Amino acid sequence: MQRSCEICHQTKPAVKRPKTGQAICKPCFYNCIEEEVHYTIQSTNLFHRGETIAIGASGGKDSTVLIHLLHLLNQKYDYGLNLHLLAVDEGIKGYRDDSLEAVKRNQIKYSLPLTIVSYEELYGWSMDKIVGKIGLTNNCTYCGVFRRQALDKGAKMIGAEKIVTGHNADDIAETVLMNFLRGDHFRLGKCTEIITGEEGNMPRYKPLKYLYEKEIVLYAHFLKLDYFSTECVYSPNAYRGFAREFLKELEKVCPRAVLDIIHSGEMLDVNTNPPDKLTCQRCGGVSSNKLCKACLLLDKLNE
Ligand code: SF4
Ligand code: ZN
Repeated sequence: MQRSCEICHQTKPAVKRPKTGQAICKPCFYNCIEEEVHYTIQSTNLFHRGETIAIGASGGKDSTVLIHLLHLLNQKYDYGLNLHLLAVDEGIKGYRDDSLEAVKRNQIKYSLPLTIVSYEELYGWSMDKIVGKIGLTNNCTYCGVFRRQALDKGAKMIGAEKIVTGHNADDIAETVLMNFLRGDHFRLGKCTEIITGEEGNMPRYKPLKYLYEKEIVLYAHFLKLDYFSTECVYSPNAYRGFAREFLKELEKVCPRAVLDIIHSGEMLDVNTNPPDKLTCQRCGGVSSNKLCKACLLLDKLNE
């Protein structure tokens, strides 16, 4: 490693940045991460003064870093945002109960309001009960559909204009690969965008879209942020796991691969006309049919 930080030339470097290979000190590393996210927010005009923002908080590293950064930048650059934590309780013992404790500790640390919406309350079914009924196949389909709608409902309860999520560069690159491999041109054209779901009522924003997962882990670790790092006990997700392994192998040969894949996705000119948007006749949620996916899945469970 270099004798002094390649940015400030003052102190000894503490980290070799996975994204750039630069050897830099901790304060310069923090500064890089914070300024990069600030730049992403400013250059894409992501937020407007006075808005209420629901931060999707899972207790994991990504959303914890997201809370920390938005809280910090909102003060430092006077964004004038009302930040509100929004957590979803899927009802998974040994996973979500513990990670929600981390969310609650962060609520106190950053003095932010917190709303928790649960599957049990919204649907009458926790994930533990769902897995008890259907077993370990398709459980993530139920969970994903229910989570999307739970976040929508929670954000509406809060009076938020938008939901921000902690998706990082690696997540997005993986999603590009998965959509490409599946030939899902609609999602392939959409998945690299910093704002998604604008056709619905509650758009999702991803301010960490250019941050590498490794740098998020380092940032959280150096700053001793309080997060929970266990995988969901029902997680199979074999397809994403394969894309993840493949990406990690590519990254070993070329660290830029993560950003290159995102850029490739951004430059693709594919058909992204969304399916027609309707309102679910039963629950009023966003749907492309008479009944939304959540209501269809609930019917199956209640059969
Ligand atoms: Fe839900 Fe599947 Fe994620 Fe577990 S791994 S939280 S079941 S989507
Ligand atoms: Zn430095």
